[in-house]
This record gives sequence, C-alpha cells and structure tokens, in this order.
Amino acid sequence: MKIICIGRNYLAHIAELDRDLPAEPLFFMKPDTALLPSGKPFPYPEFSAKVHFETELVLRMGKEGFDAVTVGIDFTARDLQQRCIEKGHPWEKAKAFDYSAPIGAFKPVSALKNPDDICFGMKLNGQWAQQGHSVDMIFDFDTIVAHVSKFVTLKEGDLIFTGTPQGVGEVHVGDKLELFLENEKVLEFEVK
Ligand code: MG
Repeated sequence: MKIICIGRNYLAHIAELDRDLPAEPLFFMKPDTALLPSGKPFPYPEFSAKVHFETELVLRMGKEGFDAVTVGIDFTARDLQQRCIEKGHPWEKAKAFDYSAPIGAFKPVSALKNPDDICFGMKLNGQWAQQGHSVDMIFDFDTIVAHVSKFVTLKEGDLIFTGTPQGVGEVHVGDKLELFLENEKVLEFEVK
C-alpha cells in the first residue's frame, strides 16, 4: 500500500506559504509506516521544532477508481522542509516520517451527502483550526487520479491526500486534534 500526497492544491494555502501556482498536480509519497495506529497519540518527532498540521481530504482507491473518502493530517516538519527546499534537496524526511499521516474512518463515496462539494475540517483543542471545501481545489479528484496514474500505477487500497486549504499551523505536545468529514467526527487523537 502506498500513500500519494498532492501539494499546493488550494489557492489560499499557496498564498500563505508564498509558493508558486503549479501547472499540474504536484505529488510526493509517504510510506505505509506514516500511518498512525488507531487510538494512538501522535508522537512529536525529536528532529523538528516546527511541526505543522495540514488537514486534507483523503481518497481510498477501490477496484475501479476511488471508492471512499476520509480526512487526514499531512504532518510536515516545516523547519526541515524549508532547509531542504533552500538547498534543492528532496524533502521526504520532512514529510514521510513515521506517523506523519493519521487518517480517519472512511465513508463510501455513495454515502456522501454532497459529493460535489465535500466540507471537512479540524478542531485544535476544541476550536476550528481549518475548514475546507472540495470545490476550492485547483485540481479535482479525477484530474489528480488521472495525473498520478500516468507515472505510478494506483492499486486497490492506496491512499491519496488531496492537499490542504489555508490555515496550516503548528502543533505542540498536549494538543488534541479532531477531524471532521461533512460535520461527522472521523478521528481524534492527541500529540504526545
Ligand atoms: Mg499537504
């Protein structure tokens, strides 16, 4: 199983990080060791002093195309990532580290209330930190799947993080995160 992650897919997030607008979907990967076992806290990594949350819709591939959706966090060691970008180095270590991809419970696409505009979000310590709508994506789900498939064969069970809306920020030890898909809580965990 592999985890594909799309970067820079919401205009307001590109602006907040002062990045360039991509001409095509930008993607990178995380290994399956990036998943956070159910019920476990997220261990704050010792190699970073600035871990950001990025709250994203996550697709699960079925036999024919994606068949389910949830919400996940693309944890990013922003300090390491920035140093890698400045040197022109790959930034896997800032993105693909252990437990950097917690995901919630999946909802079948057929059970979504509004599949054409999926709302999602994350509460940090009880307050909304990020809220997004899939209509605000630069590249929609079908475009993402088609683009990635030109380079990497997608298999049943593979996951695709589809990018974060604006509002990314730091987590700290002791924080509690709650993830919502169409206003239903799909995951909660703490930072340890
Ligand atoms: Mg991301």
